[in-house]
Amino acid sequence: MRGVNGLHHITAIAGPAQENLDFYAGVLGMRLVKRSVNQDDPGTYHLFYADAEGRPGSDLTFFPWAEMAPPRRGHGLATEVDLEVPDGSLAYWAERLQRYGTRVGAPETRFGRRVLALTDPHGLDVALVEAPAGRAFAAWEGGPVAADRQIRGLFGAQIWERDLAATTRVLTSTLGFQEIGTEHGWIRYGFPDAPGVLDVRAAPEGRRGAWGVGAVHHLAWRVDDEAHQLEIRGRLEASGREPTPVIDRFWFRSVYFREPGGVLFELATDGPGFAVDEDPAHLGETLVLPPWLEADRATIEQALPPLSFSAAAHARS
Ligand code: ZN
Repeated sequence: MRGVNGLHHITAIAGPAQENLDFYAGVLGMRLVKRSVNQDDPGTYHLFYADAEGRPGSDLTFFPWAEMAPPRRGHGLATEVDLEVPDGSLAYWAERLQRYGTRVGAPETRFGRRVLALTDPHGLDVALVEAPAGRAFAAWEGGPVAADRQIRGLFGAQIWERDLAATTRVLTSTLGFQEIGTEHGWIRYGFPDAPGVLDVRAAPEGRRGAWGVGAVHHLAWRVDDEAHQLEIRGRLEASGREPTPVIDRFWFRSVYFREPGGVLFELATDGPGFAVDEDPAHLGETLVLPPWLEADRATIEQALPPLSFSAAAHARS
């Protein structure tokens, strides 16, 4: 059985787009690798932050739906995004984040790794997790953070579940996750040779969670290509899930489904990738639309707020 190959991207819901850009590109120093629109709601940006090459597994994306209410915390929702940073860099990060007014927690240790938890400007829980070098990573020379401290990509996510057994079955039997360990009520699942852990916690008493500004929208898992995607899609259908047909997202192909507890998952292909329609040296600098939205470009551009890299937080320090 071929399982998924770790995390592909995580998508979350943000407040105003400029504040989102200032934080993720300016303070956290990730590269904006694609400036596009939500393909199902083209009046809203879709902003993609990643390493310099925008490789799968490094990509955190946002829908700035500033008019939404805050999320309702509860089961069936991903609750935290974890980003990998180099070993020994947390003191730098704590100082940098506080300098720009970000609330950070006390450094902690989870599953043997040093972690700094923070809340982004729109309420999303994020944690920086130290890890030794090893994963494929391209530093972003145009960013405000020195290469040896940069965020290397996604480390994982946390989810709360009402019924652990049903979710665990899909993770391990259908998607190929392995249990890595348990700690303080969290069960960690992951992959021996691909980044992307999932920390799962039982929350049977609580309410069902709901999306809002500062919530994770979905977690996308890597598949090699469409054949691999269809193989897993078939297993999902056989196990009673209701995956969508394959949807062409232009930079990758996607299948969406809800795991039994309600968290929205996606299977995303590695290719064709973000450089398919832009010069790799100029990713993210201008609004890129998939071909089927090009005819509406003027209307779409008019509806979107302007975005700029001019904020002080973008200066290197
Ligand atoms: Zn997605």
